[in-house]
Amino acid sequence: MNSALTVNDGIAQPPMVNPHVGGLFEKRRQPLPTVEEYVRGIRESNITMLSRAITLIESRRPDHQQMAQKVLEACRPFAGNSIRLGITGVPGAGKSTFIEAFGGMITARNHRLAVLAIDPGSERSKGSILGDKTRMETLSADPRAFIRPSPGTGSLGGVARKTYETVILCEAAGFDYIFIETIGVGQSEVAVHSMTDFFLLLMISGAGDELQGIKRGVMEMSDLLLINKADGNNVEKAIQAQAQYQSALHLFPAPPSGWTPRALTCSAVDKTGLKEVLQEIENYIALTKANGYFEQRRREQARYRMYETINDNLQNTFYNNPTVAAKLAELEQQVTSGALNPYDAAAALLALNF
Ligand code: GDP
Repeated sequence: MNSALTVNDGIAQPPMVNPHVGGLFEKRRQPLPTVEEYVRGIRESNITMLSRAITLIESRRPDHQQMAQKVLEACRPFAGNSIRLGITGVPGAGKSTFIEAFGGMITARNHRLAVLAIDPGSERSKGSILGDKTRMETLSADPRAFIRPSPGTGSLGGVARKTYETVILCEAAGFDYIFIETIGVGQSEVAVHSMTDFFLLLMISGAGDELQGIKRGVMEMSDLLLINKADGNNVEKAIQAQAQYQSALHLFPAPPSGWTPRALTCSAVDKTGLKEVLQEIENYIALTKANGYFEQRRREQARYRMYETINDNLQNTFYNNPTVAAKLAELEQQVTSGALNPYDAAAALLALNF
């Protein structure tokens, strides 16, 4: 027993493979639902199945993408029946607080609400709210609400497409209000505008519109300017801002909808002015459904999406082509060194067989 040859038990050796990774692989091996199972689940408003179908849409795997398109195709006949609301405003304007308060009012009226976002990765982490559900705690726990963060990184065109496809699935699942949120400092407003019926710009008083980073174009495409944080000491300033924006709105050409956009105030914290916002949206929907603009806008949006898809595909095909990629680096170098003019360089690249 006391021999020097005794081998102690020693300590347990760590496993050769990371045990946590094993769990992940097991999860991945779980068979995917069939197209029929996805569609049935979505139509039955099964939120787990809806979430899984959205994950399928977001997947880059070609077999997933193929399947996602089949699910979408089957869902499309049941889509189109929601009110799609675009919400933009710079970080800090109060979007998540507003969505929480206004969304709560919508679900309290027995509507089902899906909240989506469009900002591609890097922008999201800077300001947009939806990666951070804890900031919409009540709505996250509301059985009539479904909150889904932005579909991750990628080109804006790619993210926008996935968000639009998510709208289709949510509508097929019976959601009758869809909010699509974006931070108001990029091209993403155009993308949100191109897939929503009503576009709401959330602003705060006491900051010139330059300060808020709001471009004139964004104001011009808005159906409602909403000055938030009209509470406490800020009420008067908010009302002044409302008057200023209201007169600024008169300077824009009359929109083709026949609708006259207005500036209103609200407080997302005090929950004041929210009924008026809903009334404004309902008035807009009633007017544009009666004068045909509602349908016309959706058809225009379909046309926009067609061109967007073509442009996206052409761009991908071009830049992913190995011949182009090889030549591109060389010509880029010549252009930056001044040896070649940019137009000849572009022409030479476009003349390649890609
Ligand atoms: P987001 O970045 O646009 O989503 O803005 P948040 O919803 O995160 O709000 C930014 C800050 O403004 C937070 O501290 C909120 O509590 C505050 N806030 C939002 N809405 C209101 C409001 O109606 N009144 C006041 N006083 N503060 C608000």
